[in-house]
Amino acid sequence: MSDDRFDLVVIGGGPGGYVAALRAAQLGLRTACVDKRGLFGGTCLHVGCIPSKALLHSSERYAEVRHELADHGIRVEGVSIDLARMMARKQETVDELARGTAFLLKKAKVEMIGGAARIAAPGRVEVELQGGGTRALASERILIATGSDSAPLAGVPIDEKRIVSSTGALALERVPQRLVVVGAGAIGLELGSVWSRLGAEVTVVEYLDRILPGMDGEIARNAQRVLARQGLAFQLGREVKSAEASDARVRVTAATRKDGKQEVLEADVVLVAIGRKPYVEGLGLEALGVARDARGFVTVNERFETSVPGVFAIGDCVPGPMLAHKAHEDGVACVEQMVGQHGHVDHLRAPSVVYTWPEIAAVGETEEALVERKADYRVGKFPFTANARAKITGDTQGLVKILADAKTDRVLGVHILGPLAGDLIAEAVSALEFGASAEDIARTCHAHPAMGEALMEAALAVDGRALHV
Ligand SMILES: Cc1cc2nc3c(=O)[nH]c(=O)nc-3n(C[C@H](O)[C@H](O)[C@H](O)COP(=O)(O)OP(=O)(O)OC[C@H]3O[C@@H](n4cnc5c(N)ncnc54)[C@H](O)[C@@H]3O)c2cc1C
Repeated sequence: MSDDRFDLVVIGGGPGGYVAALRAAQLGLRTACVDKRGLFGGTCLHVGCIPSKALLHSSERYAEVRHELADHGIRVEGVSIDLARMMARKQETVDELARGTAFLLKKAKVEMIGGAARIAAPGRVEVELQGGGTRALASERILIATGSDSAPLAGVPIDEKRIVSSTGALALERVPQRLVVVGAGAIGLELGSVWSRLGAEVTVVEYLDRILPGMDGEIARNAQRVLARQGLAFQLGREVKSAEASDARVRVTAATRKDGKQEVLEADVVLVAIGRKPYVEGLGLEALGVARDARGFVTVNERFETSVPGVFAIGDCVPGPMLAHKAHEDGVACVEQMVGQHGHVDHLRAPSVVYTWPEIAAVGETEEALVERKADYRVGKFPFTANARAKITGDTQGLVKILADAKTDRVLGVHILGPLAGDLIAEAVSALEFGASAEDIARTCHAHPAMGEALMEAALAVDGRALHV
């Protein structure tokens, strides 16, 4: 086999692409993974999940020292922020994980290629190499895993300094006095929380009348109350029309959706976080005839095959939740199917987590979805105020909400606002995967004192027999 002939060429080294490449190598496919960054890990590692969580963690420590330690009898004086160090720590975490990802790919004998790839024809990929020159790769299977990019907002031009996308908001050189966040989804709330904790006055402007669209409404309302108490101001039902940056400030014009009344907000920095769009630029998909839907996502069947034989697609550039673990799952299932195995991804069982504090996590159906499909369901709720571990740590805000089928008791959805919700949700995901009933969770022995007991109590509450409320 020539050096440039592979069994699989993966374009994009994000959590979809690099995981697919690792799994393909495990399955014996000679695999190449191309990324134009020249580094592997994708959006998630370089400008997404990891740097945002690093800043969330650091800013949480700062907020804890300022607002919570005194209550524990710990006096700390002269607390201040060294933002340059905080940013350097974030980058060190990213760099270390990037080295780990490259190590894994090398160990698996995946050929890593730094450069921008284009599909010249089915079975043929051309790469503009990072160091100059081109390289042609031949493979009967090509996997598109090129991810996504921030969605732009008309009238609000991003310069990544004053008007920023999430990428700019992860790298501000000083704490803005006033930050306007456009969009109350996960990214807006997470990055709004970071800068609010570090001292910015943060206003979140959202088009809809609620925050966290797509998540359970009751949990979102509770989350909004908690975040407002932490200092985030919310302007809901408002459409941002334009933003203009001058030397001194940015002027944001927003209109109330109900009556069109306009108001100008002034800020030092504006973060546009209205969602993400699939990224497939430069791949040559039009010429190749790869079909895309009205929103630009590459259309695939249940085997992740595009409309062109031999060309597959996964992750953020195909329909479904735009999440790193979903991209990862897609990658594994896609490659397993290529070799005749039976990989499968169920989007309804992909958890989603918002890493504010408290965290917000969900899996399965929301109450709104159950009402809409006229399902017969029961609800069990348990507040963290009644959980011993939460009392000990002082993290009593929030609740666990379990939705179960009224007849079969099968768990349909679990929604958590509370401490470590992002970890607690794993039990709920397993429950859904195994088709568990609320009774199964209720009868599972949970360690004491632990946050997980709240899940058990909410499951008991489905049957009206919670013990600690
Ligand atoms: C601020 C932020 C926070 C986030 N937090 C979370 C979180 O906490 N949890 C979570 O699950 N998700 C989170 N996400 C979403 C997550 O990052 C994405 O869902 C995930 O990265 C998608 O993976 P992917 O492999 O499909 O694509 P990506 O990670 O976007 O990777 C695609 C790769 O393809 C490369 N590429 C593109 N075109 C070409 C080409 N022509 N040739 C070669 N290479 C190319 C790009 O350089 C990129 O590295 C966050 C996103 C952002 C922006």
